[in-house]
Amino acid sequence: MQELKSVGYELPHSCHECPRGCGANRAAGECGLCGADGRLMVARAALHFWEEPPISGEDGSGTVFFAGCPLRCAYCQNADIALGEHARAITVERLAAIMGELEGAGALNINCVTPTHYGPQIRAAVALAREAGMELPVLWNTGGYETVEAVRANRGLVDAYLTDFKYADAALARRYSRAADYPEVALAALAAMVEET
Ligand code: SF4
Repeated sequence: MQELKSVGYELPHSCHECPRGCGANRAAGECGLCGADGRLMVARAALHFWEEPPISGEDGSGTVFFAGCPLRCAYCQNADIALGEHARAITVERLAAIMGELEGAGALNINCVTPTHYGPQIRAAVALAREAGMELPVLWNTGGYETVEAVRANRGLVDAYLTDFKYADAALARRYSRAADYPEVALAALAAMVEET
C-alpha cells in the first residue's frame, strides 16, 4: 500500500444512519441507541476462518468487528461486542491501514461486521484504503436493519452484502429486538442491496 492520507467525513448532527433514526448528535459526541457516539469503536480485526465457506475460504476473511449495534437482539451471540465492552477507539486512517494489513496477511476480503452505525467512517476508510492500493472486495455483514439511503451511500464501496433476515413477523421483531418495523425495513434494504450489487 502507498502512504495513507487523512480523509474527511461528516458525522451526523442528527443521526439517521440506521432505521432507529434516534437523532443523536454524534458530531457533538452524543451516544445513540446503537451505543455509538462520535468515536469509531473496533473490538477485533483479524483473519477469520469461520464465516460461510465462500467468504472465509482457505485463507480467511479479513474481519473487522465493530462495537455497538442498532438492533441489540435479546439472543445476541456477540453481546460483549454489541454492548461495546471490549472495544478500542481508532481513527478512520487507522481503519484504512488495518484493511491494508489484512490484505497483506492474505485475507480474501474485508468483512465489516455490524457496520451500520459507522457507515460514514467505514465508507471513508474503504475509499482511503483503495486510494492507497487495497484491492480486496468489501463485505457489509449486517443484521439487515439498514436504511435504503445507507445502502445507496455504499455504492461503489461495498461489493457484497452478508445480510441476516431475522424476522418476517413484526410481533417477534418487537419482542426480541424492539424493532416492530424490521420486516418491512429489512425487505426494502435487501431489495436495494440486490440492485446495488
Ligand atoms: S446509527 Fe445509532 S445514533 Fe444513528 S440513528 Fe441509528 S441508533 Fe441512532
